[in-house]
Amino acid sequence: MNTPVSFEFFPPRDETARARLVSNVASRLGSLKPEYFSVTYGAGGSTRDGTRQTVCDLLAAGYPAAPHLSMGSDDAADILSQLHDYANQGVRRIVALRGDQPSGYGASRFERNAENLVTLIRQHTEQQFHLVVAAYPETHPDAPGAAADLEFFKRKVDAGADSAITQYFYNADAYEDFLERSARAGISIPIVPGVMPITNLENLVRFSERCGADIPRWLRYVLTDLQDDEAALVDFGVEFVSKLCERLITLGAPALHFYTMNRWGATTRICQNLAA
Ligand code: FAD
Repeated sequence: MNTPVSFEFFPPRDETARARLVSNVASRLGSLKPEYFSVTYGAGGSTRDGTRQTVCDLLAAGYPAAPHLSMGSDDAADILSQLHDYANQGVRRIVALRGDQPSGYGASRFERNAENLVTLIRQHTEQQFHLVVAAYPETHPDAPGAAADLEFFKRKVDAGADSAITQYFYNADAYEDFLERSARAGISIPIVPGVMPITNLENLVRFSERCGADIPRWLRYVLTDLQDDEAALVDFGVEFVSKLCERLITLGAPALHFYTMNRWGATTRICQNLAA
């Protein structure tokens, strides 16, 4: 496969899972030669140590790693100290986000957005990091509308973002339309589609409701019919997402970013299908 790939992890919850992530999951996915692994960050600093530890584990194992960092409720001094530490560890790419509200926090915790984080990082570290931001072909659920969301995306780009990764989606037309609207708005950075393999309907529905990703009605019905047969659901999901990726590549996707959920099986099969 000529299209570059990257793989996203979340910080493992305990030492056993931590050891397994690098020795088992990253080593298998590493054989697909990803550009980098990224590691999510719990807004409010809830996974700060876990994110840093996972990034360090990946770097120590010889993989390029990119931490996610969120502005949500961390103060600027705290963020700058994390950046300084990451630069010393050899990190060159940061995924810069507003972050999602941890449960139990009041709405007032999010007075800042990702644009503020991009501005802060550029002001203090100039071009030291490649900055990746999030983009939403199906529109972010908090946005007042599609046009406003695109305008806020453009502001992140104008503040200094180098590339973007999208929220996942299962309708390639949404990506095509988003690329066209972005180009018309004068946005020229690479917009990499985020890809969520389908392995469990219940989890997928829960995530999708939270992040505003649409599961097309026909797809939900097919998955519902398969949900009691895990192997059949995964097989269907692999074939469906492989075809989606093929279409995204045809539409000009510069790379593919997989939300792996710390698992290697479905992502590996999809990448192998794309390489065949
Ligand atoms: P923003 O770009 O700040 O946008 C958030 C909302 O505010 C949007 O509705 C936007 O339209 C609106 N907005 C933006 N600027 C303004 C403005 N100036 N005035 C008014 N409204 C504005 N979440 C985590 O907690 N941890 C992670 O590690 C993580 N990784 C992610 C990785 C990717 C690739 C993606 C796509 C999402 C990730 N998320 C993560 C989820 C993300 O944090 C949420 O979607 C969050 O709600 C928005 O983050 P953002 O960076 O897109 O925010």
